[in-house]
Amino acid sequence: MWFEDLTECNYFGEKYSKILTAVGWLENGKQFSTGKIPRDVYFKLCEFSKTPWRFAIFMGYHSCDLCQFQFENDSAKGNSNIFIPYNSKIYVCPGLITHYINNHFYLPPREFIEAVYVCPPQGSMEYLKKMLENGGRELVKMMKEHK
Ligand SMILES: [Zn+2]
Repeated sequence: MWFEDLTECNYFGEKYSKILTAVGWLENGKQFSTGKIPRDVYFKLCEFSKTPWRFAIFMGYHSCDLCQFQFENDSAKGNSNIFIPYNSKIYVCPGLITHYINNHFYLPPREFIEAVYVCPPQGSMEYLKKMLENGGRELVKMMKEHK
């Protein structure tokens, strides 16, 4: 599934597309920026993908098709997503974003890097507050109902 960075993301259905901004939905053959990102941002994203919010419906696996070879027991894949609330937006990226950064030198948009920098730890009250403040009320409900 490919979305251009900073566009609406309807991966979770049309209902949520207006409130979700896509980052890091890469696909072979589509252009993406490359470069260095601060190590702290990378580590923070790794932390987030350790304990991701699970969406109610299983959305299937993302697998990396940028790697040179894919083989069933040696391919990067994940079924998690990371939500980062910031500045009246909620960014959503596949958990694979850490793989894209580390292995394919993907450089996410600057505003997203800023958002990750200041994002409170997942699972904290502040994080929940930020989700609500930035338009994620429907999302929070969806996650909660299915805990
Ligand atoms: Zn890869």
